[in-house]
Parts: sequence; C-alpha cells; structure tokens
Amino acid sequence: MNQRIGILGGGQLGKMLCLAAADWHLETYVLDKKGCSAENYCTHFVEGDFKNYNDVLNFGRLCDVITIEIEHVNIDALEQLEKEGKKVYPSSKALNIIADKELQKNFYVKNKMPTSGYRAFNSKKYLAEFLERDNPFPCVWKSCRGGYDGKGVSILKSIESLKDLPDVPCIIERLVDIEKEICVMAARNLSGEIVTYTPVEMVFDDKANLLDYQICPANISKQQIATAKKIAKQLIKKLNIVGLLAVEMFLTKSGEILINESAPRPHNSGHHTIEASMTSQYEQLLRCILNLPLGDPKIKSPSVLWNILGAEGFSGEAKTIGFEEALKISGTYFHFYGKKTTQPFRKMGHATVLNKNLDNALADVFKLKNILTVET
Ligand code: ADP
Repeated sequence: MNQRIGILGGGQLGKMLCLAAADWHLETYVLDKKGCSAENYCTHFVEGDFKNYNDVLNFGRLCDVITIEIEHVNIDALEQLEKEGKKVYPSSKALNIIADKELQKNFYVKNKMPTSGYRAFNSKKYLAEFLERDNPFPCVWKSCRGGYDGKGVSILKSIESLKDLPDVPCIIERLVDIEKEICVMAARNLSGEIVTYTPVEMVFDDKANLLDYQICPANISKQQIATAKKIAKQLIKKLNIVGLLAVEMFLTKSGEILINESAPRPHNSGHHTIEASMTSQYEQLLRCILNLPLGDPKIKSPSVLWNILGAEGFSGEAKTIGFEEALKISGTYFHFYGKKTTQPFRKMGHATVLNKNLDNALADVFKLKNILTVET
C-alpha cells in the first residue's frame, strides 16, 4: 500500500485513476504535459513526454510500480526499468505486441483467438500492388502504429482511396458485417486471479468515428455474453497482462464474435464502472498492480454512458452550456476532464445514467444530448 505508483499519461483516464488511488490514500506520480487532466489530482506531477526515452526512464526511477493510461509510450524505457527491477504493468513485452496492429493480429491468430482476416504491408508501394491485383474492396485500412479513436483507420471503397493514405506500415482487414460492437474489460493481478466485467454495447458516432454512447449490459444473448467473457479471459491470460485489458469485439450479422483490438489499460468502455459496478475499473487496476485480491466486477445497475464530445463547428476556449438543466436528470453522474480548449468531437467529459430500465436511461441520454453541449 505504500508503493509509489507511476502513471504514464495524465489524460482523463489518468485523472480517474488518481481519484481512485486517493480513496485509499495512495501516492501517485503522473508524467505528462502541464495542463493535463490529472495534473492537480496526483500526489506528484512530473512534466515531460511519455514518448521520450529519458523522460520515461527518469520518471520510472522515482516510482516502485509503473502503469499506463495510454499505450503510445516509450516502451524501450519501460524495458530498461524492468531490468532495473521496477514493476511495470502491463509489461513491455505485452505493450510491444499491442502497440502494433500487425503484431496484435499475429498474436490473435497464433493463439487461435477469433479475429477478422488481414494482410500486412510495410509500405504504400506493396499495398498498392496488392489492392490493384486482388481488388479486395470494400476493406479496412489501419496504420500499424499510433492510431486511436478511429484516427489511423479508413474504409477503402476503391483504388481511388489509396491516394489519401499515408505511406506507413499498415494492415488491410476484411470489412466485417457488424451487428454490434461490444467490449469486455478483463482484470488480472500478479497472482493470476482474473475477473471479467459485463459486456457493454458501444454505439459509435459515424462522423466522429468515436464512441457516442454505450449500453451496459449489452443486449446480446446469454451464450454470446459467455463467449465474449471467455475470449477476454483467455486473452488477458495469454498476453500475461497484470492490470486491465479492454477487449473490443465485433458481433457479426452471422452471430460470430471476433476480436477487433485490445487495450491494456483503463478504457472508455469502463467509465461506467465508477458508479455502475461493485468495483470500478480504476480501483480494479490498483488492486491488480498492487497484487491485492480482485474486486467484484458485477453491476449494481444497468447504465448508459454518454461521451460528451466537443460540438461541431466550435474550436477554442471551451464553454459548457446547459449544465444546470442537465443536473435535473436524476441518476446521472457527470465527469468533466478540465480540457481548456474544445474542438469538434474532442472528448470533453462523460455522463453515466443509471436506471434499472435501460430504455429510460437511453431516453435520458437523448435528453442530455439536446441540453448539454461544449462550445466556445
Ligand atoms: P481505433 O484503434 O482507432 O479505435 P479500431 O480498430 O477500433 O480503431 O477501428 C475503429 C472503428 O472502425 C471500429 O470501432 C469499427 O466501427 C470500424 N472497424 C474497424 N475494423 C473494422 C473491420 N474489419 N470491419 C468493419 N469495421 C471496422
């Protein structure tokens, strides 16, 4: 309990992790730029760049156990810290696999985990040759590294789409006939204990390619719930992850469940667990990395989570409009991330609506969408 916990990244996930740590009066260190969401919520803030080798190394040396809230961090520095005896969760080995979409896909295939068919390309030249020869359209292009929130993903309809793509290592995936997008959070501590949360159903904003709202529990069959949870449990074990793993999956129109991608950290799909589960994803991560008994992941109430995104057409100093009106909706919990500037579709906060009737919770979210906006 008196270990110094280092968190690479001080975005909203880092802030919420610090808040959970504060409940147990744990000591937290955060590495990020000044002005980030977590800056005023950790015990020690260190200004720096989590992608920079020396910044991560020097930061890690101040801590006993190091975790992440974003996977695009300097993994070489984490490897060095492991050699120096620091506890790094998730490990540099797991992060190396997950940070690259080709290695991630290879891992799923090698371990017989279900995922969509794909091909990998080192450069645009080889990609162009393949597209011209095989005519695989429509298909999905993904940059191997650096993508998040739909950035680095593009649906290719014809060879014409090629000209808009950067020349970077990439994968091409079969376009999956998606019925629903679901996510299961799994947690594993150092002793190997594993729990999985109830699957959530993610509904995306087509324009932003970002989560719009999310329903928990997902409206899928008992069999599908069991399969999704089993996949998440197997994957966290096979990746040997200590910490959290968000496993994003597609339920296809033919009823198959395929892994889309996974993230070894707290996740947008687990925000609702703060109010809606016996143990939040943030407290669960602390239990994992401190090797404490895991908490009960069961839900206390069905919920709908809504991502409060920057309104279209507004870029600049952020102003939240309609909060007083929004506060009248009972059973709603607001989280703002303190980002000073907004831009279209930037994640500015989220709201979780609890209601034993999911239709009513969803109706409240639609009300909220009309009331609460972030503009300039
Ligand atoms: P990111 O890492 O940016 O979140 P994802 O791999 O999750 O990228 O892709 C973003 C979205 O693109 C997914 O949520 C899904 O809606 C769509 N998508 C991704 N891969 C496929 C696919 N193979 N078939 C159909 N849609 C896909």
